[in-house]
Amino acid sequence: MNLADKSTEKIWQGTAVSSGVAHAVVHVLKDHFDEPDEVAISADEVESDLARWHAALEVTRVEIEAVQQIMDEQGSSEADIFEAHLLILHDNSILKQVEKTVREKLICVDAVYYRLMCKHMDALRGLADSYLRERFLDIKDVTHRVMRHLRGEMLQHPMFDDQVIIIAHDLTPSDTVQLDRSKVLGFALETGSANSHAAIIARSLALPAVVRLHNICDELHSGDPVLLDGDEGLLILNPSPATLAKYRSREEQSDAREDALQITRHEPAITSDGFKVDVCANAEFIEEMDAIRDSGAEQVGLFRTEFLHLEDPDGSEDWLAECYTKAVKAMAPGEIIFRTLDIGGDKVDPHASGEPEPNPFLGWRGIRVSLGRQDLFRKQLRALLRAACHGRAGIMFPMVCGVEEVRAARALLDQCASELMAEGLKIPEDIQIGAMIEIPSAAMSADLIAAEVDFLSLGTNDLIQYTLAVDRLNERVADLYQPTHIAVLRLIQMTVAAGKKAGIRVCICGEMAADIELTPLLVGLGLSELSVASSQVARIKHAVRKLNAAECSRLAVEIMQMSSAPEILAKSRSMAETIYPELFA
Ligand code: PEP
Ligand code: MG
Repeated sequence: MNLADKSTEKIWQGTAVSSGVAHAVVHVLKDHFDEPDEVAISADEVESDLARWHAALEVTRVEIEAVQQIMDEQGSSEADIFEAHLLILHDNSILKQVEKTVREKLICVDAVYYRLMCKHMDALRGLADSYLRERFLDIKDVTHRVMRHLRGEMLQHPMFDDQVIIIAHDLTPSDTVQLDRSKVLGFALETGSANSHAAIIARSLALPAVVRLHNICDELHSGDPVLLDGDEGLLILNPSPATLAKYRSREEQSDAREDALQITRHEPAITSDGFKVDVCANAEFIEEMDAIRDSGAEQVGLFRTEFLHLEDPDGSEDWLAECYTKAVKAMAPGEIIFRTLDIGGDKVDPHASGEPEPNPFLGWRGIRVSLGRQDLFRKQLRALLRAACHGRAGIMFPMVCGVEEVRAARALLDQCASELMAEGLKIPEDIQIGAMIEIPSAAMSADLIAAEVDFLSLGTNDLIQYTLAVDRLNERVADLYQPTHIAVLRLIQMTVAAGKKAGIRVCICGEMAADIELTPLLVGLGLSELSVASSQVARIKHAVRKLNAAECSRLAVEIMQMSSAPEILAKSRSMAETIYPELFA
């Protein structure tokens, strides 16, 4: 690693999604996938195998067109390249040949498609003619995109010796769990949004992340020294001594501000007029527990168990129980709210999800998978109940669209508890059971759901996307993803009211809870539990302590009469900036 490289500095501007600065060499993941094996399939499997491939081609088409549109909008001449990619993707002779080979030779489509594309690449590789060499790169790019979607995963345990900044087209949750996280200092991605799970994980792990760095995988090579600025959204190749000096002084100032905040992190967050807000942490990995306890978080308000599942989808009940127990013990005496598997959407488990779906976020996701795959669900519930015997563990169900799913999930949980008790286990009676409110139908029936559970947890990342019909990952509609849309706020208000009426806790664990601009509004709406990335706990506690709950309620009353999302945001932000300007410095 040569961080003192004297080559010319070059800067790319992307979108900042997780703050902080990292200075290291990059590891480019673009090319990292193993050649698919020639797996034999039966005649019965041909159609479903081809359907899987067609779905991958379709997702690739949408992806290429989206990049093309952005390039067009920016007036970039590069837009033509993507036209060529679409032609390659839809090349009739390739399509026909793949189908014919799969049908005749009964070999899985991954291998057939990959080998055929390699043949085309080999024919062009190494030719002196620069035009033809460009075609080689085009075919390679398209092939890699399709393969990535076809396999539902990009990485196979990539290895790197030094600490690195990961450069990739995108990072799915299954990609992320395969990384050696102790070596990763940041993420710089071609695509993604603030609400993608790569961004959420980066915030959880307090790593800087920048997305929308289009074509960055082609610009960099593993080993290039860069500085990644997750506050301004910059990626700087070969940072000059002057740039490094500027960042060093900025870092010293922000360290000083952060140190001041950290002094009070373990004290409770109580507003100036006595309203207590429990500030909890969100987690994805067991190794986060020490950092969470140290962050000042009162408990883990959301443990996304699907990440552990993706590490070993076939892991046994004993292994799961051991992992959950380890987390519970590490967090003691604090509670961990484990969310049962939320597979689906962007968190694809090829083993559990089956066929690729045309609209995964509206498909087989969360509790739907758990209730459909009861073997998987029962394994998880039993493991969670076993872990609950060693400390404080709550359980909540994701993506419920109404009360019936909650009842069905609870019935299975009760069954598992009875079985375990019959096996001699002493299960605590006070395990808290909750439901996530992240679908508008769930918010609108929150009163019914509240009657069945001990707490509600607002998953606003999804609640926003489903209320506004805005894909949380799609950068083209990112401007329409508005947490302060009045419809979203009404659903939050409805949920808080249902919780209050039933006398149960209501938490908010979506990313909105960590936005200091919105803390006055959320406190004003009566939310007394906020679950955020552990790196944000001290800031949110500080913000709460400076607020006055009665003033916040008046603000919320005014806001609920308003109609414009940007104006609502400005109003809450204005109170926040006046009351705790130090957090905006
Ligand atoms: C949410 O939807 O707000 C949430 C916390 O769950 P996830 O981000 O994992 O979908
Ligand atoms: Mg969600």
